[in-house]
Amino acid sequence: VSGAELLRDPRFNKGLAFTEEERDHHYLRGLLPPVYMSQELQVERIMHNVRNCKDPLDKYVTLMELQERNERLFYKVLIDHVTELLPFVYTPTVGEACQKYGIIFRRPHGLYISAKDRGRVLEVMKNWPETQVQVIVVTDGERILGLGDLGLQGMGIPVGKLALYTALGGIRPSACLPITIDVGTNNEEFLKDPMYIGLRQRRITGQEYDDLIDEFMTSVKQTYGEKVLVQFEDFANHNAFRLLAKYASTHLTFNDDIQGTAAVALAGIVAALGVTGGTLADHKFLFNGAGEAGTGIAEIIALEVSRQGKVSLDDARKKIWMVDSKGLITKSRFESLAQFKKDYAHEHQECKSLLDATKALKPSVLIGTSGQKGTFTKEVLEAMASFNERPVILALSNPTSKSECTAEEAYTHTQGRGIFASGSPFDPVEYNGKTFTPGQANNAYIFPGMGLGCTISGAIRVHDDMFLAASVALGKLLTKEQLDRGLLYPPFENIREVSAHIAASVAETAYKLGLSTRLPQPKDLLDYARSCMYSPAYRTYR
Ligand code: NAP
Ligand code: MN
Repeated sequence: VSGAELLRDPRFNKGLAFTEEERDHHYLRGLLPPVYMSQELQVERIMHNVRNCKDPLDKYVTLMELQERNERLFYKVLIDHVTELLPFVYTPTVGEACQKYGIIFRRPHGLYISAKDRGRVLEVMKNWPETQVQVIVVTDGERILGLGDLGLQGMGIPVGKLALYTALGGIRPSACLPITIDVGTNNEEFLKDPMYIGLRQRRITGQEYDDLIDEFMTSVKQTYGEKVLVQFEDFANHNAFRLLAKYASTHLTFNDDIQGTAAVALAGIVAALGVTGGTLADHKFLFNGAGEAGTGIAEIIALEVSRQGKVSLDDARKKIWMVDSKGLITKSRFESLAQFKKDYAHEHQECKSLLDATKALKPSVLIGTSGQKGTFTKEVLEAMASFNERPVILALSNPTSKSECTAEEAYTHTQGRGIFASGSPFDPVEYNGKTFTPGQANNAYIFPGMGLGCTISGAIRVHDDMFLAASVALGKLLTKEQLDRGLLYPPFENIREVSAHIAASVAETAYKLGLSTRLPQPKDLLDYARSCMYSPAYRTYR
């Protein structure tokens, strides 16, 4: 390849970091200013530019442009400054980026499959230039974070998630494929907006929708084989549970909103037990929001309680209660409930509001998965603090604008006794002269390690036990000292090491279950996981 081509290809470009030798050998003389700059110095320069951006969306665009220009530098920057940059490539900023995706659109990222491609999805997929894909993140854009239907512009989510698969989980960038299936949108504003870049039609549904998804799933296997991981992301719940049930037995697939969220929440709750005391079975859980995240978390808690206490799954579910948009889910509503809620319909009088339900049930753990801002009101939080010494409050809805309460509210309305984590990040809070550091209960802790665990073991199916293993592995990494500071998760700084541990546990479980095809099993899975992780350091070209 010529020097000009090296500079233009983000996979090879090193900018000023091309050495004298490389400049001679690859016809680069004159195409660059004459100085050499190390990758470390380049990282500093980028960070300077990012910090100078006036708002979060500018930072997002700056980082995406870097990804389009110099891939290794992008990942080096992201890895070296993960805590600072995560909020911009991921929640909350990625939400705003999706809302404005048409306006900020520069180069296309990922693969676009649309309802117009019915009958030739395989052909479209073959246009993707990489042949060694290991992880696909796919969305149809119907429930992007807590922001609703963003149609094709949901593409920001698979792109962002896969950037984290690489930065946090060490999956090679070329092995990552973001996909949006554009089936139209029911977002009225977008349908009228000339800058909207998706199909200008209402969502296809029913058989037509199912057939398109089915063609997609078949094409994935035909193109990339049995061992490509397909992560479903931000589908509306009327499709999410159905599609998971349909494809879990035929593909290596999981739904991150249901299963990934569950694993990360369970790890945080188990960590909180270190402060509250008692076992999982001693606690009572109340959810605000009974969708993918809520019932997913509920199910993994029940699974773990039933395993630990040798009680039936049904008995374990009895201490888990849910409020949805119509109030407390009870037996009297059974007939009209969606299938995935039925297991949590218990005998109780009607409660119309979360406050009523909280007062009536007196839970020890309150979990927000409704996408509804501010639903953990002062009254709800005070109620939690009135019957718990250390109430556990998880406000999981993303982005920050949808959080059930702020960190400050969680601490002040519980007089500093609340144990708090949120889906999107909050800064530490000062209260009564003490500093509280809120945990970030975000599935970014789980999915990168999950993906790495699947790929290094050559897994062909995802089993629930693999998520339990991931959750336990994450929980184990929290130190006593971190817990004392109020953290429920290890800091993001060490996230690559966290991912390696999760990957090792996931892989070990996959081997035990006979779901792995990479044989013989590596002796030390942790070392092996570490050794498989992508490094963004520049390579030398001869
Ligand atoms: P979903 O499947 O659409 O579920 C939303 C649930 O909230 C539904 O049960 C809905 O009730 C209920 N709800 C709506 N308005 C309500 C209200 N005013 N009061 C009580 N409940 C209400 O969505 P999801 O996938 O579970 O996601 C929900 C939120 O969790 C989103 O903001 C998402 O960003 C967040 N999330 C966070 C993480 C993380 O890592 N922290 C991971 C996944 C998702 P009906 O069933 O009656 O409609
Ligand atoms: Mn999601």
